[in-house]
Amino acid sequence: MTTTGDDPQADVRPAQSATAHLTPAALAPAALTAAMPAGVGGLAGLRAAPVWSDQMVAAAGITAHDAPFVTVGGGLASFALVNFLRVCGAPTDEIRVVSPQRRPYENLHDLMRRSQILDQEPLRSESMARVDNIWGFPGYAMGDAVRRRSPGPMLRVLAEPLAAEYFNPSPDQVFGGVDREAARIGWDSMVLPARAQLLRRREEGGYFCLVCPVDGSAPVALRSQYAHLGTGYPGVRYVPEVSRYRIEHREYFNVVNAYEPHEHVYQVLRRRPGSVVVRGAGITASRVLQRLFDDRRAFGQDVTVTHLFRTYADRAQGPSTFRRPGGDGWNYQPFSFPKAAGSGQLRRRLFSMNAEQRAAFIGAMDAATTAKRRMWQRQLTRAREVGAYRALKGEIRAMSPAPDGKVDLTVDADALPAGATLQADFVIDCTGLTPTLRDSPLLADLLETGGARLNPLGGLDVGAHFDVRGGQQESGQLYASGVIARGGYLAPVDSFWGFTHAALLICDDLARRGFCGRLGLARSVTSWFKWLMNEAP
Ligand SMILES: Cc1cc2nc3c(=O)[nH]c(=O)nc-3n(C[C@H](O)[C@H](O)[C@H](O)COP(=O)(O)OP(=O)(O)OC[C@H]3O[C@@H](n4cnc5c(N)ncnc54)[C@H](O)[C@@H]3O)c2cc1C
Repeated sequence: MTTTGDDPQADVRPAQSATAHLTPAALAPAALTAAMPAGVGGLAGLRAAPVWSDQMVAAAGITAHDAPFVTVGGGLASFALVNFLRVCGAPTDEIRVVSPQRRPYENLHDLMRRSQILDQEPLRSESMARVDNIWGFPGYAMGDAVRRRSPGPMLRVLAEPLAAEYFNPSPDQVFGGVDREAARIGWDSMVLPARAQLLRRREEGGYFCLVCPVDGSAPVALRSQYAHLGTGYPGVRYVPEVSRYRIEHREYFNVVNAYEPHEHVYQVLRRRPGSVVVRGAGITASRVLQRLFDDRRAFGQDVTVTHLFRTYADRAQGPSTFRRPGGDGWNYQPFSFPKAAGSGQLRRRLFSMNAEQRAAFIGAMDAATTAKRRMWQRQLTRAREVGAYRALKGEIRAMSPAPDGKVDLTVDADALPAGATLQADFVIDCTGLTPTLRDSPLLADLLETGGARLNPLGGLDVGAHFDVRGGQQESGQLYASGVIARGGYLAPVDSFWGFTHAALLICDDLARRGFCGRLGLARSVTSWFKWLMNEAP
């Protein structure tokens, strides 16, 4: 391991020629702390500088460790890339994953539980969209068929979408596969439990990533030739009415966002009758409604739901090129993007567009949609028939606490007089997560000082290989994938399929630069057999 301490003259080898890198033992927080000189200073000076040299880092009293490839995030976007790199021959001691989470799906699992996607429920991706298997074969349906000893799931894939609904894997299946693959590729040995604070170009080539270990020990700098960002959504998105209500009334019990912990809502409604206003038209709204009506039936309480759609679809919607079925307020689409946006003609069209055209095209494909599942439709029809559910086209204009522990809402809804008021026990806002990159301190800094820029859709401006434009180095490259790279040449970037496809393109570029091997036919076939036999790559 090469380190630089407070001695500015310390002998620091360039990252690309370093032979000793961070070892798992050196990654132990205690080892990092021991390597840290007393009296860290000069961080403010470093923060202001767009490019750091080895000497500047050493003079600031920060220890530097070599790690040729660093990915920041540690979610499924990072996992898909590291998986690909390992298959392409990159050794574990050349890769570091900077992440506060140990398992790649921790954050996603939390968000799923909160938004009522239970572990055995169907997800919204297809059988072959696997982050744990770069070939996508065998798909989840085949795994399910073997587990159940029944050809049912396979027959369903053959019949979808005309004669059967799409096969969707469950979180259990997806996360089980990720656990197996993580063990196979040595994921744990690459994870550095830390948060990245700053990412800077290195004067001598490559990048510095300043990281703060999660145990509170002193920050260290990772010196790498290649870096990747997969930091996901910066946070939960709050619509202005919800923020205003919370700030003005300091009330967090009755008005909740579906991505926050809000189990108390369901617990209360199991014990007594109540009314709920649900807002949103995506898959999360579908899940929340399912939970409310499942509980209503199971616990026998008179729970009524008013569902507000900002745009109410009563028939097929959208331009003729990708027209979606619609009805009862919902826009229906099996996946968050049409399948052709991943690898078909819609993807090809993106390549011929400029940034503004891409933003408009992706925006048009990316409307709030939900899957048309018979179970949900039957449930809502039954609830409508007994007067427990009504769907309105409308918006919440204002909210205030009512004296009896309820919420007063002023709404503009088509079917109600202007400025009508409603009263509800709970308001569940299913608007979603914020994709605003400046909400992430790391990305905000990268945009302000690191040379990166935004595309017209608000994602990082990336090239065809997910290379961050404005963040290039003569020797080295910065990449980004996942939702932070939306608006580029691939539309479904925030999906299992998108992570693997981005990883393929990044690895192609890294192979060209000599960091890993190419995935030719021979390597692909032998690697697939190793995957099948659960042998290390
Ligand atoms: C509820 C829900 C359901 C979904 N269902 C599906 C589905 O069915 N099919 C599908 O294909 N896709 C689905 N998606 C989309 C996609 O698969 C997820 O959004 C996925 O988890 C995103 O992975 P990620 O790695 O980009 O981000 P995350 O999983 O959010 O991981 C990013 C990680 O980066 C960390 N991080 C952030 N900043 C820093 C920093 N400065 N330093 C270090 N670490 C940092 C975060 O703490 C987080 O742990 C779903 C998404 C959600 C929210």
